[in-house]
Amino acid sequence: MLKIAIQKSGRLYEDSIRLLKECGIELNNGNKQLKAVAFNFPLEVYFLRDDDIPQYVYDGVADIGIVGENVLLEKTKDIDLVYRLGFGRCRLSIAVPKAMQYESLDDLRGLKIATTYSTILQEYLSQKQVNAEIHEISGSVEIAPGIGLADAICDLVSSGSTLFTNGLKEVEVILRSEAVLTANKNLSEEKKQVLDKLLLRINAVKTAKNNKYILLNAPNHQLKNIFSLLPGMKSPTVVPLAEAGWSSVQSVVNENDFWEVIEKLKQYEAQGIIVIPIEKMIV
Ligand code: ATP
Ligand code: ZN
Repeated sequence: MLKIAIQKSGRLYEDSIRLLKECGIELNNGNKQLKAVAFNFPLEVYFLRDDDIPQYVYDGVADIGIVGENVLLEKTKDIDLVYRLGFGRCRLSIAVPKAMQYESLDDLRGLKIATTYSTILQEYLSQKQVNAEIHEISGSVEIAPGIGLADAICDLVSSGSTLFTNGLKEVEVILRSEAVLTANKNLSEEKKQVLDKLLLRINAVKTAKNNKYILLNAPNHQLKNIFSLLPGMKSPTVVPLAEAGWSSVQSVVNENDFWEVIEKLKQYEAQGIIVIPIEKMIV
C-alpha cells in the first residue's frame, strides 16, 4: 500500500483529486476526512495542509505527496521531485507599491520585504547580492505595504489581480512553480513498484492531454508531405478511400503545434479534417 498526501482544501485539492480519478483510481469516501482508501489501486490518500506535506513525506508518514514546487523549495526537505504535474501554475514574485519608482533589484536595497517564503527569498537576494530586510509573516502578505508593515512583498501570483487591488505592481519573478509529485528517498521495493504503476498512469493522462487524434482525407500525391507533418506515434495509419487516388490518414498531433499543422495540412490539400480528444495515451 502506497500512501499519498494531498492538500486537504485549497488551490491544489480539486486538480489532485481529478488526477487520481483520471488515473482510474476511485476513493471510498468523499473529502473532509483525514484519509481515504482507494478500492481499485493499492493507494491510501491523506488530506493535509500543503505546508506540512514535505515534512510528512520526509518522515515517511506519507510515501509520496502533491505540493507546489514553491512549498517544496521553501521547506528544503531532502525528498525527491519525481514528476511535474502541470497544474497549480503560479510564480513567486516581488511586488512594490504602484507609485514606487522601480528600475532594478538595486532599488530593493535596505527595504523591508514581507513574505511567507523567506528561505527562497533569502537565497535569491543573496545570490543577487541585494541586502534587504526579510520580514516573515504567515499570511495576508499583500496587505503588508498598505498597513505600513513592509515596503515590498514577495508572494505567489497567478493573474496579478490580488496585487492590483492592493495597489501593488509585480517587479521581479523569482520562481515559476507548478504542482509536483514528491517522494520519500527510501521507498521499499514494493512501494517503488506501486509508484511506477501510478507514474505510468499519470504519464498516460498527461500525454493524452497534450495530444489530439486527427483524421483526414488527402490525395495520394500529397501523402509524403502530410506524413512529414504528422509523424504519429510510430507512423501514421493510411487507409485507401473508395475514390481512386485518395486516402484516409489517421495520426496524433501535439497540442502545441496544432494550429500550425492544420494550416499546412490545408495547403497540402487535406480535406474533412476531424480532431478528437484522446483519453489515455501510452507511448
Ligand atoms: P493550506 O491550507 O493547505 O496551507 P494555502 O492557503 O497555503 O493552503 P493555497 O492558496 O491553496 O495554499 O495554494 C496552494 C498552492 O497552489 C500554492 O502553494 C501554489 O503552489 C499554488 N498556487 C497556484 N496559484 C496560486 C496563487 N495565485 N496564489 C497562491 N498559490 C497559488
Ligand atoms: Zn499552506
